[in-house]
Amino acid sequence: MKKAVLAGLLSVSAAAAMTVSQPAAAENAREQVIIRSGEQAAIKGSPTYFTGSVRIDPLYPANNEMRSSGGSVTFEPGARSHWHIHPVGQVLIVTSGVGRTQEWGKPIQEIRAGDVIICPVGVKHWHGAAPGSAMTHISICEEKEPGKVVEWMEPVTDEQYNGK
Ligand code: MN
Repeated sequence: MKKAVLAGLLSVSAAAAMTVSQPAAAENAREQVIIRSGEQAAIKGSPTYFTGSVRIDPLYPANNEMRSSGGSVTFEPGARSHWHIHPVGQVLIVTSGVGRTQEWGKPIQEIRAGDVIICPVGVKHWHGAAPGSAMTHISICEEKEPGKVVEWMEPVTDEQYNGK
């Protein structure tokens, strides 16, 4: 008898919890999300898109309402992206080390921790580490269509990387 009452109370409270949690779930998109450091697995930069050793630590994804996504990209000395363009542009924030970036047809520029680089829509470029220093930057891109933030092109040759 007592057990039955308890079970009844539990089922009532479970039902109450359901009715409470459902509106909360519907409003979930309006709540802050904290993605804890270390929660997301690092990705090795594919040789299809990068030369040398590159690690991508995802920071945050785009969603239906907020179209930018961010990641932290670490290039070992000498490593760099292939040439590419961003259909909706890109912001790079260098967080450590010394690196290089270049627009097609222009000189290589050195970039250092604290520098912010704005890559306009459709400008062909690459970015990576300096020959003697690793470099990490945060990359923020908006999506033109779901999942589409970059159009990859040919590798940066050693001659191009060395500014020859
Ligand atoms: Mn880029």
